[in-house]
Amino acid sequence: MRKHIFNAGPCKLSDRTLENTAKAVLELDNNGQSIMEVSHRSPEFMAVMDETKALMHEVMNIPDDFEILFLGGGASMQFAMIPYNFLANKAFYLNTGSWSTKAIKEAALWGDVVEVSSEDKGFTYIPKDYEIPSDADFAHITTNNTIKGTEILEDMDSPVPLIADMSSDFMSRPVDFSKYAMVYGGAQKNVGPAGATFVIIRKSLLENVVDRTIPTMLKYKTHMDKDSMFNTPPCINVFAIRETLKWVKEKGGVDAMDKLAQERADLLYKAIDESPMFKGTVAKEDRSRMNICFVFEEKYEALKDDFLKFAAQRDIVGLKGHRSVGGFRASTYNASTIDDVNALVKAMNDFEKENA
Ligand code: PLP
Repeated sequence: MRKHIFNAGPCKLSDRTLENTAKAVLELDNNGQSIMEVSHRSPEFMAVMDETKALMHEVMNIPDDFEILFLGGGASMQFAMIPYNFLANKAFYLNTGSWSTKAIKEAALWGDVVEVSSEDKGFTYIPKDYEIPSDADFAHITTNNTIKGTEILEDMDSPVPLIADMSSDFMSRPVDFSKYAMVYGGAQKNVGPAGATFVIIRKSLLENVVDRTIPTMLKYKTHMDKDSMFNTPPCINVFAIRETLKWVKEKGGVDAMDKLAQERADLLYKAIDESPMFKGTVAKEDRSRMNICFVFEEKYEALKDDFLKFAAQRDIVGLKGHRSVGGFRASTYNASTIDDVNALVKAMNDFEKENA
């Protein structure tokens, strides 16, 4: 039996993704070779790559002037590649948590960082009233703060090229690509298994590449010129991403994902807000729909491990909060079902009945 998986990433994937990838591990499209054996330059794999990109363009409504890359190195590598390629003098970073903080650390190696931060309140809200300097080389935001559980749901305007780390909310809602120069993330949440990084980059952004020596593998141009095939791409991951995109399409596309994300989050936040034992940890208007963070009211704090065990007995896993935050975090990505959320809400209610 499948568990109710609330892991923050790697996380629950659709049954279609798992079943079809498992089949392709044994044999890809009746050709006598596994997806792990077939050459990445073979027509069979090229067809997988091409279809994956075409599906992503279609599902996420990505205009043709953007290139889609699947790279290695994780979103963390992008933290370094972005300023290496595009930061000549000054960049604007919205610091909404640990991941933006890591991105800023890399940017500071290459230029000045103008930072607006919510660290004053432990990253429990999204800063609202600020101006992006019009002389910055680019602006960088993290749309979903996976660790603290805040999210920016609107595609904002920016006077300079806007680059967004969408690792943990990409494909959970429609995105207006006209507002962005680049969107990227580790695939291991809504997009597919860990091991591939998606980079969706406006082709004209290459005109902004800084005049400095950049190692070949760290240049966006290298990967764009070779369609993500400069070096061996993460083949099995691309296959699994294709299957995930097909599943999203089958389910009604990102509009359906958006609706489901809201339903799941509403159910769980309602249970938290009505609970005598649990409470939320971030500003209500900035609550993430992907990573729902909550803690015990102080007098129940000693029961934390008991609750995790109680949940585990009901096949509910992945609830432990990030080590830097504590408490609980239920990550409700696209493949999480209302049934998963109901199981968690019931466990919370039953635990309250026994312990409050
Ligand atoms: N950015 C965000 C918002 C994340 O949630 C994560 C990982 O969870 C990362 C960046 C780092 O991604 P990776 O582990 O692929 O480097």
